[in-house]
Amino acid sequence: MSSETRTASCCCGELTMTVRGEPEKVIRCHCDYCQRRTGSVFNVSCWYYDDQVVARTGTGTIFNQGPQNPGIDYVFCPRCGSTVYWEFRGFEPLLEGSKLFGIAVGNFVDASFPAPTLDIHTSYRHPWIHDLAGLEPHPGFPAFDVIAPARAKLP
Ligand SMILES: [Zn+2]
Ligand SMILES: [Zn+2]
Repeated sequence: MSSETRTASCCCGELTMTVRGEPEKVIRCHCDYCQRRTGSVFNVSCWYYDDQVVARTGTGTIFNQGPQNPGIDYVFCPRCGSTVYWEFRGFEPLLEGSKLFGIAVGNFVDASFPAPTLDIHTSYRHPWIHDLAGLEPHPGFPAFDVIAPARAKLP
């Protein structure tokens, strides 16, 4: 595994997450929640395992969307409002106890960050946004065996 570290930070710098190595997945998502959360028309996020997280600073406020998306706690900076990362709940049994974090790729402000490997919820996609080269668009959330983390032990 690469030993390179990267730090995602909110706008004011209080809320950060530093991770080591390469992301498990990089996902472009066009869903209504990502649009409202970011204020942009899509979100690019990446997944890291808890054992890749080397540091966190700041105390985030947690927002859980509720019934529509009960398994994700979004952590945002109460001072500047950036959502830097989120924690998936419920994957631990599939990951032999590992936790999975999502991080908003924009918060790294790193143009060398790997490009998306999945394009999802394209039914919400604005018509001027093009397909990503080599990626199949998924109109909704793909089947779990498509999106599953590499460490997952599928039934
Ligand atoms: Zn902040
Ligand atoms: Zn989304």
